[in-house]
Amino acid sequence: MEPLAATARTAYVERLAQDQFDVLVIGGGITGAGVALDAAARGYRVALVEKVDFASGTSSKSTKLAHGGIRYLPQFDLAMVHEALVERGLMVRHAPFLVRPQPFVLPVYEHMRWPSGLPVRPPTDFGLGFVLDIGLWMYDLMAGRLNIGRHKSISAKETLRLAPTLRSTGLKKAFLYYDAQTNDAQLTVTVLRTAAQFGAVVTNYTEVTGFTRAPGKLNGAVVRDVLANQEFTVSARHIINASGVFAEQVAALTGEESKATVEPSKGIHLVVARERLHQLAKPTIAAVNGVAAGAGCNLALGCDVIIASERARFSEIFSKRGLVVDFGGSWVLPRLVGMHRAKELVLLADVIDATEAERIGLVNRVVAHDQFETVVKEIATRLANMAPLALAASKRLLDQSFGVSMAEALDAENTAQALMATTNDTREAILAFLERREPRFTGS
Ligand SMILES: Cc1cc2nc3c(=O)[nH]c(=O)nc-3n(C[C@H](O)[C@H](O)[C@H](O)COP(=O)(O)OP(=O)(O)OC[C@H]3O[C@@H](n4cnc5c(N)ncnc54)[C@H](O)[C@@H]3O)c2cc1C
Repeated sequence: MEPLAATARTAYVERLAQDQFDVLVIGGGITGAGVALDAAARGYRVALVEKVDFASGTSSKSTKLAHGGIRYLPQFDLAMVHEALVERGLMVRHAPFLVRPQPFVLPVYEHMRWPSGLPVRPPTDFGLGFVLDIGLWMYDLMAGRLNIGRHKSISAKETLRLAPTLRSTGLKKAFLYYDAQTNDAQLTVTVLRTAAQFGAVVTNYTEVTGFTRAPGKLNGAVVRDVLANQEFTVSARHIINASGVFAEQVAALTGEESKATVEPSKGIHLVVARERLHQLAKPTIAAVNGVAAGAGCNLALGCDVIIASERARFSEIFSKRGLVVDFGGSWVLPRLVGMHRAKELVLLADVIDATEAERIGLVNRVVAHDQFETVVKEIATRLANMAPLALAASKRLLDQSFGVSMAEALDAENTAQALMATTNDTREAILAFLERREPRFTGS
């Protein structure tokens, strides 16, 4: 029977209940898969149980980078960077069908922020490019012979050729460096399959619901076959909790106080072309009911109307973690909230609450939590019913104002105002206003 074949599950589940294992791994994400492979390759009798499907947790929802840990460079965590670079190189070498080199463009702008997390501050803008260059040299050197491509400096023109949607204003040059990209779920399943090839008994839809004990230690786990709705015991000398964000819950099943503390955090990838957002004829509404951080914050700020519940929080917290803040949202910020506040939000990675966000003009309205959905719907309906041409013109105007100077923006506004007065809808709006009635818009 082929290891981890679709037809193998029944036989594997039977073995789970019958065999005696050296290691039982809980969790079929990349951590559990790696542990199972390592142990099985060393000759241990290994079982791995996953409560849903393999890689259904974080391991299928990552940014899909097999990176060398560039984010840890500013923190000088060199041991971790070296390890990650070696692993990256080995993956590209041994599994080119799963992990492939991915070039990145790191633009350098005039008056650019310092790299987040860097403890020393270079004296000038010139120094910043220099510091980035040194960092990337270190990144290349630490990868050694397993490096997948040396970084280089490229001109502003070349940068815009490679990344045409980048802002050209103030762009001095860029660095091109390499990391690697993978399909995270596929990688996890491949590692699991390899573990199975080394003899590991690997099953999905098998959930650990409790543990069994010998005096002084755990000696097995109670596992529920979710598909057959049957429970059985898996005996193992060692149990490894690789259940990711569920680690604390699984540890609690022992009945003892958990030594692991998990602080769940959520990362969401929403990929929306900026032009699409701004070119939509109807206005876009950001309804922020939780934490809008990093790209989420940028996405919210890219919308035309931002409604926040009392519980909303806004931040660029990732810069606190040493991640480079992406430029898109941060460019827009000073225009929206003033340079002083933008710096505070981006550079200090402040987390600001809804009241503060309203005070500095980051959001249009703050709404009580229990009325949030109703108010959002109400505003959406009102916006949808407005004169489409006037709205589209206003949107274009707002959008333009990000790319031009304040004087030019005001000029454009004057022109647009004059033009708008010529549309039927605007005339109707003025008439309706004067006659104190609801306007009847026709979209012309
Ligand atoms: C937004 C985001 C982006 C990221 N981007 C990257 C990246 O680009 N590159 C990178 O290297 N890393 C990245 N990471 C980190 C990486 O994704 C995680 O470190 C990794 O996926 C964690 O894997 P895991 O196996 O520990 O957890 P998970 O993948 O969550 O696996 C845990 C498994 O345990 C199972 N489980 C839970 N309870 C039980 C139970 N009682 N019985 C049986 N099974 C159970 C769950 O169903 C789950 O499948 C990112 C993380 C996030 C959040």
